[in-house]
Amino acid sequence: MDAKHVDKNESSTKVSFDSKGLIERWQQTLGQIKDACESSQTDNVTLLAVSKTKPVSMIAALAEQGQQHFGENYLQEALEKIEVLKNDTKASEVVWHYIGSIQRNKTRDIAENFDWVQTLERDIIAKRLNEQRPESMTPLNVLIQLNIDNEDSKSGCLPSELPKLIASIKDYKRLCLRGLMIIPSKADTDAFVRTQKLFNEIKDAHSELIAWDTLSMGMSGDMAEAIAGGSTTVRVGTAIFGARD
Ligand SMILES: *Cc1c(COP(=O)(O)O)cnc(C)c1O
Repeated sequence: MDAKHVDKNESSTKVSFDSKGLIERWQQTLGQIKDACESSQTDNVTLLAVSKTKPVSMIAALAEQGQQHFGENYLQEALEKIEVLKNDTKASEVVWHYIGSIQRNKTRDIAENFDWVQTLERDIIAKRLNEQRPESMTPLNVLIQLNIDNEDSKSGCLPSELPKLIASIKDYKRLCLRGLMIIPSKADTDAFVRTQKLFNEIKDAHSELIAWDTLSMGMSGDMAEAIAGGSTTVRVGTAIFGARD
């Protein structure tokens, strides 16, 4: 057997990497979140580990340490990882978040395999996810991705379209609308605070949205600012897993 062949057979959770370094970076990230929470006098920030392009063995190693939430952007890659980890007892508690762009013809795979979708921006996609979420599963948790910078080139629902989208989604029985997600541009220094204001206004205006509790903001480079601005979920890739190719 040549080396390539061996790799293939070992494809599941055995790709080698520096697991000590990985766990150290993860612990460091948790420490930074804790510090930011203390400065902002909050305590309910969830770490979403963004594992796109990284091997499933890294996910398994962190799951074993107690990391529960993982985010993936590329559907095919994600489905393969989910399948592998289903059979890994230590990783079977993983909560999967889809954070990539959603193609209309791929909604069924998302509805059947994920616990959360953070990148919902159009009613047609919400409608399909609602129809395709299996009855045997709990409702799919969803966040509306908001284009807080109002830039045409960026994905996300425009603030002006938000009321209409919320009005449709809240009636979908197989979806559970939890809040908002943003990827602000660097130049937009008060995006976090503006989004938190909007988030709270929606909460006050819609008492029927009983699960409206999640504000997904902040990545490796701006975690602390996002937490100071009211984030309840930070999505961290590079700081934990290292640079992506
Ligand atoms: C890749 C990605 C992240 C993680 O970014 P890092 O800078 O590597 O922490 C967070 N959110 C989304 C939507 C992403 O696509």
